[in-house]
Amino acid sequence: MSSRRRRIYEGKAKILYEGPEPGTIVQYFKDDASAFNNKKKGTITGKGVINNRISEYLMTRLNEIGVPTHFIRRLNMREQLVRQVEIIPLEVVVRNVAAGSLAQRFGIPEGQALPRSILEFYYKNDQLGDPMVTEEHITAFGWATPQDIDDIVALALRVNDFLSGLFLGIGIKLIDFKIEFGRLYEEEMVRVVLADEISPDSCRLWDLKTNEKMDKDRFRRDLGKVEEAYQEVARRLGILLDPGAGDHRGPVTVQ
Ligand code: C5P
Repeated sequence: MSSRRRRIYEGKAKILYEGPEPGTIVQYFKDDASAFNNKKKGTITGKGVINNRISEYLMTRLNEIGVPTHFIRRLNMREQLVRQVEIIPLEVVVRNVAAGSLAQRFGIPEGQALPRSILEFYYKNDQLGDPMVTEEHITAFGWATPQDIDDIVALALRVNDFLSGLFLGIGIKLIDFKIEFGRLYEEEMVRVVLADEISPDSCRLWDLKTNEKMDKDRFRRDLGKVEEAYQEVARRLGILLDPGAGDHRGPVTVQ
């Protein structure tokens, strides 16, 4: 089905196709995984199916509390329909607990709670390895306006509060995550909306009791049981009943 649509863009984990109506895009979720700016590559069997579901679920819940997103509806196992937006070339990272690059940069042990949530901006540019930037760089180079930044910060903090609580309710700590935003043009209006995806590819999720990693760090750090961890996140969210959810085996939908 997808092969007949016009391919707009192929990224590391997703392919974007022209949508059925103007102003829409089809996001296809691949099983491909990459890390360390594409230096490490692999596949996580069934990841695309699970991330499509998890992102659908989280975007829908966020929409319900009034966070505007690009998400329209899931189309099938690996595809979802989203609104076409002008992507703001920033990766917005929110951190609650020291891990990953922050732990490394400041020599803080992984797992140490941060005194408050920390928000960081990275310039989305693979060739440059997504360098960290400040608001000064963002406005000086015209990647976003001060108003866009205000909207992004307010939305990112709401997403963090809401998702922290949602995950806590299912025994998972939201350590940190990365989100992206886009500008949605509606008639005379421009709005900043949440775009891309939210999934174990873009979040650090630790089991509340054991601190076991349930996210892409299992792939990055060769910890094994990557598929199982993604499935467990989906299972706890109540999305998949079948523990072996791939396209071959066919997950059982709850809702
Ligand atoms: O590597 P780092 O500690 O900076 O990552 C912070 C968070 O952002 C992690 O949850 C990671 O999964 C996510 N991230 C991402 N895509 C990137 C870089 C980081 O999803 N290119």
